[in-house]
Amino acid sequence: MSSTSAKRLSARTIVLSSVAFTVVAVTAGAAWAAITDNMYPTPYANLGCYSESGPDGNLSCQTDNAQLTYYMDSGGTNELEAEDRRVVIDVMSDIYAPTDFTVTLDTSPEFSGSAETDIVYEESGIGVPSGSDGVTFCNNAASDLRCDQQYIRILGGGNYVQGLTCHETGHAVGLVHGNQASPQLSNRDERLGCMETPVSTDEVLQDNNVDNINATY
Ligand SMILES: [Zn+2]
Repeated sequence: MSSTSAKRLSARTIVLSSVAFTVVAVTAGAAWAAITDNMYPTPYANLGCYSESGPDGNLSCQTDNAQLTYYMDSGGTNELEAEDRRVVIDVMSDIYAPTDFTVTLDTSPEFSGSAETDIVYEESGIGVPSGSDGVTFCNNAASDLRCDQQYIRILGGGNYVQGLTCHETGHAVGLVHGNQASPQLSNRDERLGCMETPVSTDEVLQDNNVDNINATY
């Protein structure tokens, strides 16, 4: 237990220097028009990125680079049905591909090594907090800042919809809720687009999230 505390503390120290760097980069960018910085790390979301075997409720990683690969579980109990797959593909191609990410569906996913498939979508309720319909967690941290592979679990029964898929994917690339943004906003502030929580069915990224993504990747 003490070793965990030490790890978290050292991660926080390193991440805080990243916060300072981000602020400098943002100030220098003339095109910056975001209302708030809701990209991890912020003063309210800075625990350090670490590997989790399942969701622990902390949102604490960016993805590892601008090449964003994803895979949808296609076998076993966590399989996405055809209609769920269609939603994910549309969110990735219509909402995330227009950002500075290069988005690729990975049909030969990597689950080990140093270049794992970035986002793995599952239809599963395992570890999804009570009252939530989805969750995101880092399976393999690449550093104290970035994650090599993030898992998204969304409940079955019609919960794979555009808004929630956009929301959990946002977490997988480092976006946080309004109460963890700097300056803090209401979690229901409309300017947070699909990072509002709770999120409406048809939400998209909107400008604030796109600005934060493009300033980071
Ligand atoms: Zn969320």
